[in-house]
Amino acid sequence: MKLTVLGCGDAFGNGGRNNSAFLLSQSGEHILVDCGASTLIRLKHESVVLEEISTILISHFHGDHYGGIPFFLISSLFENPRQRPLTIIGPPSIEAKVSELLEALYTGTLEKLGQLEITFIEYGKEPIKLGDKKIVALPVEHSPPSLPHGIRLEWKDKVFAFSGDTSWSNNLVPLCDQADLFVCECNFLHEQAFGHLCYDELVERRDQLACENIWLSHMGNEVLSQDSLVFNKLSDGMKIEF
Ligand SMILES: [Zn+2]
Repeated sequence: MKLTVLGCGDAFGNGGRNNSAFLLSQSGEHILVDCGASTLIRLKHESVVLEEISTILISHFHGDHYGGIPFFLISSLFENPRQRPLTIIGPPSIEAKVSELLEALYTGTLEKLGQLEITFIEYGKEPIKLGDKKIVALPVEHSPPSLPHGIRLEWKDKVFAFSGDTSWSNNLVPLCDQADLFVCECNFLHEQAFGHLCYDELVERRDQLACENIWLSHMGNEVLSQDSLVFNKLSDGMKIEF
């Protein structure tokens, strides 16, 4: 599996980084994990054909994580009319949230959405099985109205895990268990606050996370300015084979 980092910035674009979006690729198929506002631009930058993205997984309803879906959809409607089906998976009410956002940003386009073959699936208690993929999403600790989730994607023999936005949550333990790659948010350096993780706590709890590699995302300026951290920092455009 290959990870292409389309965006690993925080909500404020610190470090000039793009909004949250990670492209997972195997055998000519792509899955998009998060689709922050800048995602379509970054997909173009990487010359990704939208048609080859079969599935979009959304961690929660904040603009830096799902605000890019309307841009993806208008490109799929008007620029390069999409022929293949698309599955959009996210927290409960994903279809309504996407529809509202599309209509807010591009008034009048919601009525055209039926031209695309989109299946919306909501996270629930059971894992979601889609062909050779299994998706587990568990609630995490972030602004409750955004319905925050961490995501675990098992695809063929590889496991990708993503914290979403969260302060420490015991659900991170099963989400990243034996994961080949765990992308974990690390907004703060020392500050412990609800909604985001800090580096110190992540170091302290490293032993609880039974995964091979932790890569940091969603870093604020203080974390970005550190030269020697015990975890690797992601950057936009980075590609990791695992
Ligand atoms: Zn965020």
